[in-house]
Amino acid sequence: MRVGIGSDVHPVEAGKPCWMAGLLFEGTDGCSGHSDGDVAAHALCDALLSAAGLGDLGAVFGTDRPEMAGASGASMLTEVRRLLESDGFTIGNAAVQIIGNRPKIGPRRDEAQRVLSDLLGAPVSVSATTTDGLGLTGRGEGVAAIATALVLPSESER
Ligand code: MG
Repeated sequence: MRVGIGSDVHPVEAGKPCWMAGLLFEGTDGCSGHSDGDVAAHALCDALLSAAGLGDLGAVFGTDRPEMAGASGASMLTEVRRLLESDGFTIGNAAVQIIGNRPKIGPRRDEAQRVLSDLLGAPVSVSATTTDGLGLTGRGEGVAAIATALVLPSESER
């Protein structure tokens, strides 16, 4: 078994659609960025790549490749899963914690966990916290996420 860690931070941008943990949160300002700004999905991707020793999102997708403009967190998770599986890994589980004031995750936690678990073919836990008004997340200037993942060698590789 191998564990990995990943994190991400994006600035909040007024009027941008809010994609978080694979869900669209209507009526909430989203995060700016080259992609859809889903920090939870990005942190999970980095944790999975870290666990498999396959580098990080910047190395795999590039940070400014035109074909990645507006790329959804879901599409990035799907591609990372494909990379891991083709490198002989199976995803054991993953967890992500979203750090920020918005969006409110609790009411949609089950839905987020279902979407992410379906994308990765493994259980994904989603949690959230605030920083009590402190720092860029507390002031609502940005949203952060931190993730861990466990991967195992595929049956055929054991
Ligand atoms: Mg990112």
